[in-house]
Amino acid sequence: MSSADTTPGTLPVQAAQALAERRQAVLVRVRAAEVRAGRPEGGVALLAVSKLQPAAAVRALAQAGQTAFGENYVQEAVDKMAELADLPLQWHLIGPLQSNKTRVVAEHFDWVHSLDRLKIAERLSAQRPPGMAPLQVCIQVNIDDEDSKSGCAPADLPALAAAVMRLPGLRLRGLMCIPRPGNTAALAGLAETAGDLLARLPALAEQPFDTLSMGMSDDLDEAVAAGSTLVRIGTAIFGARPARQA
Ligand SMILES: *Cc1c(COP(=O)(O)O)cnc(C)c1O
Repeated sequence: MSSADTTPGTLPVQAAQALAERRQAVLVRVRAAEVRAGRPEGGVALLAVSKLQPAAAVRALAQAGQTAFGENYVQEAVDKMAELADLPLQWHLIGPLQSNKTRVVAEHFDWVHSLDRLKIAERLSAQRPPGMAPLQVCIQVNIDDEDSKSGCAPADLPALAAAVMRLPGLRLRGLMCIPRPGNTAALAGLAETAGDLLARLPALAEQPFDTLSMGMSDDLDEAVAAGSTLVRIGTAIFGARPARQA
């Protein structure tokens, strides 16, 4: 792909248009799923998952009206944020978070979806700069009960949620899950888990606890039917991701 006739950091016009069209098609898919599920229009936010995609692609989508972007790798995300600092974007960390990265996350991100243990939560809260809004967080729940994956065990969720609620630098907004491919029953399971948690911890409603982060390119429709309020979509917008460089 030649970029000889474009400014650095921007995509050729046709590529930018293709991205905008794919995003629009995903929005149409979300609306159709809302209608099928009898849900009010506009209750599902679209997070564009831009991991391993260039800043120029994020810029093109921002110009098409997309404001929220999801990233998995902290350093890659922070580099992209610097390149796109002129845009009013909202950045969500959706990948696993190690304790040696909490400071840079607390200083740069708006949301973390992958919170799954108290030690990380305490560090993020303490390291959130006082001038910034609290970090909006979702607790990732290991809804499939698979020990190979990250996420809080459902049995540990009430205690973790109660502790996170008390951290001043964080705002507990909801739950997130990454079910095994094809396990659509897990999506309804997360919605039920969120309802149970709210019943147990009514003060959560003040956070406000309003987010169910579930649904990816392959299970978007099922996730909206199960009550998702935020779908995390990469491939259906950007196409296949390039391989991660070592
Ligand atoms: C990569 C990723 C996505 C996006 O997946 P697609 O299948 O490309 O839509 C969503 N959520 C998480 C946690 C991811 O790591």
